[in-house]
Amino acid sequence: MIDRCAFGPKPLLTVDEALARIRSAIDPIQETETVPLTAALGRILARPVYAAVNVPGDNNAAMDGYAFASREVASGHEVALRCVGTSWAGRPFQGLLAAGECVRIFTGAVVPKQADSVLMQEQARVDGPLVHFPAQVKAKQNVRMAGEDVRQGGLVCAYPKTLTPIGLSLLAAAGIAEVPVLRPIKIAFFSTGDELVALGQTLATGQIYDSNRYLLMGLLADNAYTVIDGGVIADDKDGLEAKLVEASRYCDAIITTGGASVGEADYIREILQRCGQVDFWKIAMKPGKPLAFGKIGAGYFFGLPGNPGAVFATFQHLVVPALRQLAGLSAKQPLRVRATCTSALKKAPGRQEFQAGILSQDAAGEFFVGSAGQQGSHLLATLHKANCHIVLPSECQGVQLGEQVIVEPFSVFI
Ligand code: AMP
Ligand code: MG
Repeated sequence: MIDRCAFGPKPLLTVDEALARIRSAIDPIQETETVPLTAALGRILARPVYAAVNVPGDNNAAMDGYAFASREVASGHEVALRCVGTSWAGRPFQGLLAAGECVRIFTGAVVPKQADSVLMQEQARVDGPLVHFPAQVKAKQNVRMAGEDVRQGGLVCAYPKTLTPIGLSLLAAAGIAEVPVLRPIKIAFFSTGDELVALGQTLATGQIYDSNRYLLMGLLADNAYTVIDGGVIADDKDGLEAKLVEASRYCDAIITTGGASVGEADYIREILQRCGQVDFWKIAMKPGKPLAFGKIGAGYFFGLPGNPGAVFATFQHLVVPALRQLAGLSAKQPLRVRATCTSALKKAPGRQEFQAGILSQDAAGEFFVGSAGQQGSHLLATLHKANCHIVLPSECQGVQLGEQVIVEPFSVFI
């Protein structure tokens, strides 16, 4: 079996080479703005943030029980201490703790200055005002120390970092009400093709519904992006050029699907050459060989293939790293796992392939992957069944049942 697409006068760029070209071409945006925490989810932190307060602010109880000084129980015998008050969460005990005394305390309440330990209530025997501590009581237990989580003035959150729910709660705990973030990058996306029809209209022979825009709309749903749906553009050179040049005036990135190949109605490369610069336009990957990357004005341009499977593969493996970098994030490797292949896979050498697979895990945590069905860049239903790409290196000539393969899950859940 020969992969005819892999050969030509010039060897195609590998996916890694294309990625390296993208990485060296893209200058991250610099502009920042300040937003309240309530609007910061998914935004990218632009500067390091330091804690306004200690977390926790005071030594406090990790359990409901009795606060006491460890010297009171140093004897190794059962000890009885007099309970002289209560420390509630948010309402500390106001008095002083004298020798022979303890305080009733609840989780999160301040441990009085003279105490350093908490006995959990299940271990205490209460007899009127006296609390009996068992002989083996451990000192300095069940107390969370002031500043143990975050130190006042210390680094809470390094940058650049996407703010997650955990990040927001950490910042809130540290008393940070608003954060400096990078402005969202502006991305316009278009479908191109004379055959494309919007939903709601009846299809004439040869027409298809424009599905790619729904794919991109979902893939671009991210609070670090401001997304503009540019609709469908017909296969008309002047019309295409006018739309793309216009988009480049107000966008940081422009994504098109379709028209990137070598057919007679495929104008993307020519237009990019005419009104911008082409960095590369073909890569040795399957699906997704035609992928034009370059610049129009100040906007980065990604001309993706038309077939949905190729849109998805090129978006995941090349556009996502590019957009992340443009938005100000540092490079990260996608999660890849090794799995035992439960199907035989066909593959011709020449291009790196991303086959649609179904990844599963047995009770012992071992990974298995099988083909999601007939592979074809036009087959959306196969892709919809899949939850991962099986990543086959360029030189691979097929996979036998039971062989180990590398798999890239579409999400962290399988
Ligand atoms: P092209 O690269 O324009 O030759 O398109 C390759 C294939 O993808 C053709 O079968 C197109 O009809 C199909 N295609 C292009 N754009 C879309 C789209 N927006 N939605 C669904 N299929 C598309
Ligand atoms: Mg087309």
